[in-house]
Amino acid sequence: MNVVPKPFESKLTGGTTRFSASTRVDCQIDVIKEELGFLDYEEGDANTATFEIGQTDYDYELTIDGNVNVVSATNEGLFHGAMTLKQLIFDGYHEGVADLDNCVIKDKPRFEHRSFMLDIVRHFFDKDVIKSLIDVLALVKMNTLHLHLSDNQGYRVESQAYPVLNEKGNLRKGTRGDGIPVGGYLTKDDVREIVRYAGDRFIDVVPEVDLPGHTLELLVAMPELGCTGEQFELTERYGIDHRILCAGREENYEVIENLLKELAELFPSKYFHLGGDEVPKTQWQNCEKCQSTMKREGLKNEEELQGYFTNRVIKVLKSLDKTPIVWNEALYSNMLDDSAVCQFWSDGRKCLRVRDALKKGRKIIVSRTNPYYIDYPHGMNSLRSAYNFEPTSPFNGDGIENILGVETPLWTEWVADVDKLHRQAFPRVMAVAETGWSTGDKNYKDFEERLYNVLGILEAYEIGYVHPQKANPNPIKAAGQTLKFFINMIDVDAIRSLKNMQNAKKGRKSN
Ligand SMILES: [Zn+2]
Repeated sequence: MNVVPKPFESKLTGGTTRFSASTRVDCQIDVIKEELGFLDYEEGDANTATFEIGQTDYDYELTIDGNVNVVSATNEGLFHGAMTLKQLIFDGYHEGVADLDNCVIKDKPRFEHRSFMLDIVRHFFDKDVIKSLIDVLALVKMNTLHLHLSDNQGYRVESQAYPVLNEKGNLRKGTRGDGIPVGGYLTKDDVREIVRYAGDRFIDVVPEVDLPGHTLELLVAMPELGCTGEQFELTERYGIDHRILCAGREENYEVIENLLKELAELFPSKYFHLGGDEVPKTQWQNCEKCQSTMKREGLKNEEELQGYFTNRVIKVLKSLDKTPIVWNEALYSNMLDDSAVCQFWSDGRKCLRVRDALKKGRKIIVSRTNPYYIDYPHGMNSLRSAYNFEPTSPFNGDGIENILGVETPLWTEWVADVDKLHRQAFPRVMAVAETGWSTGDKNYKDFEERLYNVLGILEAYEIGYVHPQKANPNPIKAAGQTLKFFINMIDVDAIRSLKNMQNAKKGRKSN
């Protein structure tokens, strides 16, 4: 049965059922009819495909036995059943009809959070590109799209609270002096359209505004938010920047509150991502306001100042009825509010801090750099490694019930066009989708065999991908790709960024 992600339980029952123009689709949910409409069914009475709300212990049950019947307790489950049926129809398709093997499928997800992240800052991708990605996420039963909306290179949503963010914090002059301007942002109407389109497919759109690091775009628009008040330009370079928000200026918290309110209204998700990664503390060490805040609040060091800052922002989110998500560096202060979900991407070889947090009951989303960062070349994070990675494996077993799920992030420093975007994303997203949904019994060969059917649907969608064989390059090719990737990254800013990282680490150790 060529379905990705692999269903929890499936059994062939013998014989086949024909799906044709004379099959009647009996369903109250318009988007399901739309999704199944790719064979141009007309109303007919040869047989029926019925989608109905009913009692089941599973997310959905699908039976094919002359007719098709999908039962679920929720509309979401019915939609998942439709996505399974869509893959079966595509697989059985020939000359305008589809012959489906009779079967019974009982299916349910392993993790509640199955997510893909897109960075639309380093390069901007518009609502149509995002909607086409949502089509694919829906097909493989992912349920979260995390949008990275702000960073040193730009602010990518319309702001009526602070229009200066769009005027000054949008267009960067180029990338490393290439003179090709990069800009763009989603209007509020664009966001509403994306959120609605995703919601129809039971996908939650989680916004991220990275704070207090990765905030040069805020300082470009409003220099008074920084520790020095200097006027900057958007950077043409990548990596960690030491110019960050001042944590001691009281008025900054008001600006943040206004920004978060504006975004919280636009994105109905219960989650809101606050970033919190890669925060060099050099400016805070030399800032009178930051230092006097530390004294006033009894904070031992700048790491605790980040904890204080983050918790104040979390308080705002809570008042807006949002659950915060933060990158794992936000744990370093040892005072992070308990309500915050931690997104694990990199925490040293032994993952001691994340492991400890998990043990103490904090919810964790696993998106470890290797192998889930799919901006990396296939030579570093192959399809096979993405598939085989077990999200509980970095931890000792303690608290693994607190793993909410998985996310595969796609950063776009080196992804400037849609073609490259698709080739980086697919089919690695499918590997992570299967890990998020299926039981955890891994068999790569079996996965790859089932995958070709889904890739066929991507072709019908006119969405590109890398052939599985190329997505698992041999060691020589892999080494070449890895080398090329790192050589490309090396330049003055990489060295500066490394220095910033070392400073950040030094700051932590001396505390
Ligand atoms: Zn400051």
